[in-house]
Amino acid sequence: MDFNVSEKMKTILGMIDEFVDKELIPLEPEFLTRSARSLLPVLEEKRKMVSQMELWAPNHPREFGGMGLDLIEHALVSEALGRTPLGHYVFGCQAPDAGNIEILHQFGTAEQKEKYLRPLVDGKIRSCFSMTEVELPGSNPVMMDTTAVKDGDDYVINGQKWYTSSADGAEFAIVMAVTNPDAGPYLQASMIIVPTDTPGFNLVRNIPVMGHAGEDYFSHAEILYQNCRVPQQNLLGPEGHGFVIAQERLGPGRIHHCMRWIGICNRAFDLMVARARDRIMAPDRRLASKQIIQAWIAECAADILAARLMVLHAAWMIETVGKKEARNEISLIKFVVANVMQKVVDRALQVHGGLGMTDDTILAFFYRHERAARIYDGADEVHKVSVARRILRSYEGKRVR
Ligand SMILES: Cc1cc2nc3c(=O)[nH]c(=O)nc-3n(C[C@H](O)[C@H](O)[C@H](O)COP(=O)(O)OP(=O)(O)OC[C@H]3O[C@@H](n4cnc5c(N)ncnc54)[C@H](O)[C@@H]3O)c2cc1C
Repeated sequence: MDFNVSEKMKTILGMIDEFVDKELIPLEPEFLTRSARSLLPVLEEKRKMVSQMELWAPNHPREFGGMGLDLIEHALVSEALGRTPLGHYVFGCQAPDAGNIEILHQFGTAEQKEKYLRPLVDGKIRSCFSMTEVELPGSNPVMMDTTAVKDGDDYVINGQKWYTSSADGAEFAIVMAVTNPDAGPYLQASMIIVPTDTPGFNLVRNIPVMGHAGEDYFSHAEILYQNCRVPQQNLLGPEGHGFVIAQERLGPGRIHHCMRWIGICNRAFDLMVARARDRIMAPDRRLASKQIIQAWIAECAADILAARLMVLHAAWMIETVGKKEARNEISLIKFVVANVMQKVVDRALQVHGGLGMTDDTILAFFYRHERAARIYDGADEVHKVSVARRILRSYEGKRVR
């Protein structure tokens, strides 16, 4: 097994680490205390610097202006960028645009690619993904109330969605809506591109998450679709294939997310160790001299390494045997890494004492916003149940001694 990183990737990762340390981490105090929108001009400047360094859109196709890194290469980039909440946005590989870019690239018509994909990869516009509904379980999205009914050359969309992340300021949404109510449960819904200035696309509010509604890219919206009319050419992929396409988003997207979470673990771990090293608890004693803190440091180091290797292994599985064969690995990393991240951030915060609860470090932000990792992208329990079912099935009739 070869754990080497190529020379090309070492150079890229070195440049990213330096950029994150020099250009992005110093912006965090402003990010934590000012409105997100007021920070956009400075983030735009940083994006230009990234483009000049030829590091823009690392995971996106070359033909559309990205770097075209493969899954494992981008996994390493995602880890490096995850150290700051500004990383992925400034390098043009942020969710949910990254997933939307993948499906537009794979399923978009030539016209959709020119109109939506190209400016999205260029970072000129943003997008959002509108699937989860207020009244029905996101964990079982075949239960869906939002409908898109054909009328002349159009679809007319009605429904109530929430947690449409980053809808505020987005140019368009990719909306999941029922187009074929009489088909089987997994063939009823379609993905439809809806420009956000379409009459009937009503952004009701940015939902306060852990007490903070956020704005622009850093927000999650509730949206009411009220007789929202778009041309049928806005259908993305075949009608009724919404869930098939949603599955396509899952494998690579999971790797990106999980490595971003490992990046968060790395940052929290650095802060924890440095604080333990520097905090004087008595004239001749640092916090790091306490055995319980030493145990936390060792446990977190082991957990992060184990989780990181699991994600890289899952990425390798996707690349070598494909997403279907790697289903278990893709589910396992979701709940393992989300929980490791929660534990590491919590320990780091604890080591900082009262300081950890303030916004004077990035830890409280991670603590507030990354709790959601155990809920979105399939709640932990959903993944556990589906992995366990597959494992149990594989044991049917198997002789074990
Ligand atoms: C920060 C954040 C960002 C998000 N961004 C987006 C977005 O951009 N677009 C979008 O469409 N959605 C988004 N979501 C929504 C997300 O996908 C859903 O919240 C998620 O699918 C869970 O659905 P739910 O909230 O309806 O919970 P429910 O489906 O009601 O589930 C509630 C709980 O029940 C338990 N549970 C569920 N199923 C099972 C099971 N089979 N076995 C055992 N226990 C189970 C789990 O503990 C789960 O947390 C986001 C959510 C958050 C928190």
